[in-house]
Order: sequence, then C-alpha cells, then structure tokens
Amino acid sequence: MLVAVAAVANTLDASEAPRAADPAGSPRTLIVEDEPKVAEALREGLEGEGYDVVVESSGEAAFYRLTTDRFDVVLLDLRLPGRDGLESLSAARRRGVETPVVVLTARDTLEDRVIGLDAGADDYVVKPFAFAELLARIRAVLRRGRTSDPDRLSIDTLVVDRATRQVTRAGRAVDLTVKEFDLLLHLARQAGQVVSRDTLVREVWRETSRSTTLDNVIDVHISRLRRKVDADHPVKLIHTVRGVGFVLRWEAP
Ligand code: CA
Repeated sequence: MLVAVAAVANTLDASEAPRAADPAGSPRTLIVEDEPKVAEALREGLEGEGYDVVVESSGEAAFYRLTTDRFDVVLLDLRLPGRDGLESLSAARRRGVETPVVVLTARDTLEDRVIGLDAGADDYVVKPFAFAELLARIRAVLRRGRTSDPDRLSIDTLVVDRATRQVTRAGRAVDLTVKEFDLLLHLARQAGQVVSRDTLVREVWRETSRSTTLDNVIDVHISRLRRKVDADHPVKLIHTVRGVGFVLRWEAP
C-alpha cells in the first residue's frame, strides 16, 4: 500500500493541486489513523499535494481535536483503540462540529457504510484504496463549500476569508482590489446559484439602477476575476449565464 500511495501521488497532475505556498490557504486536514505506516503515507501524500496535515491516532484524541480545532476536512479510520471512529464522530456532531468527514474503512459491508453515514460521515473509501481516489473524495467534500470556520468560504481550491479579506487559490495568494473582493465574496456566498446583474448592481456597487456603463464595469471586474482566480487552473469556477448573470461553481475541466 505504501508503494501504491507513492506511485500514484507522483503521477498526479500538479497543476490541480492546492500548493502550499501559503499554509494559511491550504486545506487543513485531520487524519485519524492508528496504523503509523498508513498515517505517515497519507500525511506525505497529502502534504505533497499542498494540504496542511495534523495526525491523531486515537478516538479520544480525534474527538478532542474535532471539538477544539478547526479543519476543512477529516479523514477518519473507524477501527481505533479505545473510543472508535464512529463514536468519536457522533459525539463531535452532537457538539455541533460540522467539518466534512471522509471515513476510511476496512470493513467493506453495506451495513458499516450506512452506519458511517448515519453517524455523520460525508463519504467513505474502502481500504485498500488508491491515493487518487481518496484525493478525488476529499476534493468532492471540499467542493461542497462547508468548512468549520464560518469566515472561510471554500469552493474547490478557492478559499475566500471574509474576516481577513484574503483569497487563495490552490494555496497561493490571489491579490484583489476592494471591488473585486466584494464581487467574489458575493458570488462565493451564493455559490452554485446564479447571481443577476441587478443584484450585483444593488449589493456590490450600491447603486439603485442598472446602466450600460455599470454593466461594462461589471464585465471588466468579472474578466479580471477570471484572470486572477481561474486562468492558471484547469477547473474554472466563474461562469457567465447568458442574459441572466454569473455563477461561482465547480465544473469539470
Ligand atoms: Ca485502525
């Protein structure tokens, strides 16, 4: 499995990876796994992809971390010494922890899968798994845009921080003007939904009515955002809905 993990990690397209130029912008990941070799292979693989990784090896430690720290995604082994993975997850969910969780399970039965999802898991992979598959699952749960930090919105590898007004794409800082940030934030808050030009005029430009000039200004800002946020990435997030407005969403490259 160690060999398989390393081999797959090396063949992945680096351009899609969240590079760790700025650790604050990397997806923060908790790995809960009691087998040291597996935990280290996962850590190396994910760090190589630009993730910021913390490893815990027991159910108690996982529960403590989940309820006291902030993560973008959790990889949770089910069979752990002491309190098992599902108990820890259920307890953390009851405490209001909403971090997306991908369960790593060796128990490939339908019953266990259903139990895992009931306990609050968002997805699962069955051991042994290909590292590429795990990465795809992680990206899918990150794409849903739910993080444990209410100030951080994340869509695919884009992170928009409302509190610090910082934006990163794939771990790299994106330098935006005040208006570009306001526009991106508005689209990110409505991710997946089409935002009309009328709404942008009202909410971002604080004007009461549309004009040709303002439409042109919006177009200029959208094209600058595309250049800064999407141009270097195979996955495009900013899309035009002809005759209506714009939408921020993940679409296959
Ligand atoms: Ca285990």
